[in-house]
Formats: sequence, structure tokens, C-alpha cells
Amino acid sequence: AQPKPLMLWFDGALVPADAPQAPLTSHALHYGTGVFEGIRSYATRDGAAVFRLPEHLERMRRGAELLGIEFDLAQAFDATLQTLRANGHRDAYIRPLAWLGTGLDGITVGLDVPGLRRHLMVLTLPTVVHLNGKRARLTVSPWRRNPASSLPPLKLCGAYVNSILAKRDSRLRGFDEALFVDGEGYVVECTGANVFMVKGGRVTAIEHPDALPGITRDTVIALSGAESRPVTHHELLDADEVFVCGTAAEVAPVSALDRREFGDNPVTRELQALYARVVRGEEPAHAHWLTAV
Ligand code: PMP
Repeated sequence: AQPKPLMLWFDGALVPADAPQAPLTSHALHYGTGVFEGIRSYATRDGAAVFRLPEHLERMRRGAELLGIEFDLAQAFDATLQTLRANGHRDAYIRPLAWLGTGLDGITVGLDVPGLRRHLMVLTLPTVVHLNGKRARLTVSPWRRNPASSLPPLKLCGAYVNSILAKRDSRLRGFDEALFVDGEGYVVECTGANVFMVKGGRVTAIEHPDALPGITRDTVIALSGAESRPVTHHELLDADEVFVCGTAAEVAPVSALDRREFGDNPVTRELQALYARVVRGEEPAHAHWLTAV
């Protein structure tokens, strides 16, 4: 039998993933005028469930509003579930993307956005389940994070060029991931994950106005009772454990920050295991974070 083609939701219909073509004059292609989300669904005892779907779509709505893209949260919610069902995905990464297309004449390339077509798509991809994934090696990035006063920390497409520059630099220098530090020496976040530290058994969520308000960060704070406060690069180097967290990364221990090596990470491993149970619906107290597919 032919393998079922991957389907995606595009402007109101489920279509084969390789079918839709965005015009070369799409505004988002030229200027990064789109907003996206990264969401995950998990196989639970009661079938597939999406983790914190309304919160992800609410963050997306805020980004869309900023760019002047009308965004129907209920439609995106429905499109997400439809796509997962169509693909039969259980453990999956979900990528909704809303963007500005072409003007009515099809050839406008100016900066004004009124009159441009608005588009929405939802793509789902099966994820490989790897618990206790490898420990990441971080390096302080020579790049600064986009300051919130220039680009608010939302998932705006163009803003990710900043993350990509930092990620690329860290890879070229043999590390797994980049850590953004601001001009005053305060830790901001990684290219696609928020940062925590553990010192003397106390868990601290690193807070910074330029960092994306992560949903995983919020989840880990709720699960651990972590304090949230600004932390300097200097203080981070002195921590017992460092970990990063995000929808894709989940809870990921850090093995080194430049030349500083971190030893065992018992608190991180415990939180990692708890997070894995929560997202799979094995912790009834947090079942409200799951949307059944
Ligand atoms: N920071 C950045 C820059 C990110 O792209 C992400 C991933 N969305 C995160 C933090 C973590 O956010 P979340 O936990 O909501 O996935």
C-alpha cells in the first residue's frame, strides 16, 4: 500500500503537505512578516492530547495582532486538531504559521501591510520520543538577543534570524546551543529555550524582559515552585545545575557552559521525569493542561 501522504491545513482545507505553493511575492518571504508556534502533542492512555494548546495559540494571537494579521483562535484550535487527526499523529510537533501574502495585484513589495492577504497553515510532524536526551553544551553568544524595545519577545518569523545567527555561531564553534547574555551581563535565554539554574537545591527560573515568555518555563515553575528572577552570567557559572526548557527541548540538562563543566544533575533529572509524566497525562492534578485530540 502507498504510505499516506502527510496532510496540512491551509486556509480552511486539509491538503497534501507538498501541494500549496506560496507566491514569490509573499510579503512574509521578503520581510519575515509572519508569526508561528511550536506545540506538541503526546500519546496518552486516552489517546493523543495537545499540551497547553490554548496558551500557545494565545501567544500566537498576540504576535498576529502586532503584525496586523487577523487571527481566529478558535479556527486555529480546530485546524490543529483536524490536522493531527488527518495524519493520525500522536507524539507530534505542531507548527501553526500565520503570515502576510501578496497584495491584490499580486506584485506589491512595499512595507505597508493593509490590503495584503492573510494566510494560516498548520503542519504536524511525528516526533521521535527520546527521554533523557543528551546533555547540551552551551556557549555565550557574541550576538545580543533582540531587545524587547526593538522586537517584542513573541514568535515573529523575522525575529528568528537573531536566533539563527547565534545558533550558527555556536555550532561553528563546536557547541550545541548559544546562550544570550545582555550588555549588563544578565542571562537572557537560549536560541529556542528558556534557562533555569539549581543552587543548593533551590530552583531558579531566569527572568529577562527580552526573553520569550515560555510556556514550558511557566509549566516548570508551576511544577517546581521555582523562584523567577534576573541572574547574571557570573551567577550562572556558579550554579550546581543548569537546564534549558522549551516545547521542543522539553527539560534538557546542560553539561557545560563554555569551559565550566557541570557534574551530575539530580534535580534536573527529577523535573525532566515529572514533566514527561505531566505531558503524557500521568499526573491527574495537571490534566487540565491537555486537550484531547
Ligand atoms: N525562547 C525562544 C526564543 C523560543 O523560540 C522558545 C520556543 N518556543 C522558547 C524560549 C521556549 O518557549 P516554549 O516553552 O513556549 O516553547
